Amino acid sequence: MAEYVAIDVGGTKIALGIGDEQGNFRARTVLATNPAWAPDIVSDNIAAAVRDLAKSAQIDLGSMTGIGLGSPGPLDGSILLDTSNLHGWKGLDWRTGLEGRLNLPVAVQNDATAAGLGEWLYGAGRGTQHCVYVTVSTGIGAGIIVDGILDRGSRGNAGEFGHIVLRPEGPECPAGHRGCLESLASGTAIAREGQRRQQESDFLKEVPTVDTKAVFAGYEAGDAVATAIIEQAADWLGLGLSYLINLFNPEMIILGGGVATHASAAYRDRVWSKAQARSLKALSQVVQLVPAQLGQESGLMGALAVAVMASSSD
Ligand SMILES: [Zn+2]
Repeated sequence: MAEYVAIDVGGTKIALGIGDEQGNFRARTVLATNPAWAPDIVSDNIAAAVRDLAKSAQIDLGSMTGIGLGSPGPLDGSILLDTSNLHGWKGLDWRTGLEGRLNLPVAVQNDATAAGLGEWLYGAGRGTQHCVYVTVSTGIGAGIIVDGILDRGSRGNAGEFGHIVLRPEGPECPAGHRGCLESLASGTAIAREGQRRQQESDFLKEVPTVDTKAVFAGYEAGDAVATAIIEQAADWLGLGLSYLINLFNPEMIILGGGVATHASAAYRDRVWSKAQARSLKALSQVVQLVPAQLGQESGLMGALAVAVMASSSD
């Protein structure tokens, strides 16, 4: 069975694995990273870690079919543009950097798209042809599968779902515009509202650091202010999902990411009822909303899926 190297690049660490096309890993490791590394150093260090991993597991790298990599975005093809938390890496070309050093073909997707591919091949979306994966964590992103094919866009950045503007006079987002979905419904937005309204809330007043988790805890405990914040965020997300339903007529929307995965069924129900109420009935009747299944594994499984999909489309 064909085997691949999977590389999941995060803000503070990189997860590496060697796995087969069915999603089984037989070796894995983690590499701590430094945002100040220069692009060449990043490639050197990852290539060395991959070689060490293969050696310790007695795997011949030459027998691998290819490498799949999930990277923070935005990307231009396989080139890393500006990422605020990996400032030294700007301009790094994943493909030329790793192909030359490891002598294997490299396929790259942004991390939300990669996680979406992982859920589609190995998780909740198995067997579907029209499926949208939405991740809600500190940011919001999406991976869109149309007719069994990933929609990449012209430069690999399709699915920047978090930056559709829903409320033009709303809060500013790091990308420099106002009122996008991310600024209204992400974990960052929920934490920001919790901090802003802390003194109004009997529950949040007692919390030393108000973060997303604390606001959700207040919601679970029935605190009125926390409930209002979470319901508002859920309503914005539901409105955003209604656009996906109307645009893509999917069979399934998979909700993943740290926020959506840990949230209660009541939150998801609220998101879903809003999405259904705001989209066309003929389309909303045929789409299911399901939670992501891969959890912590979604990054590495996603990178593996990137490699598998790239080799199958050759
Ligand atoms: Zn934005």
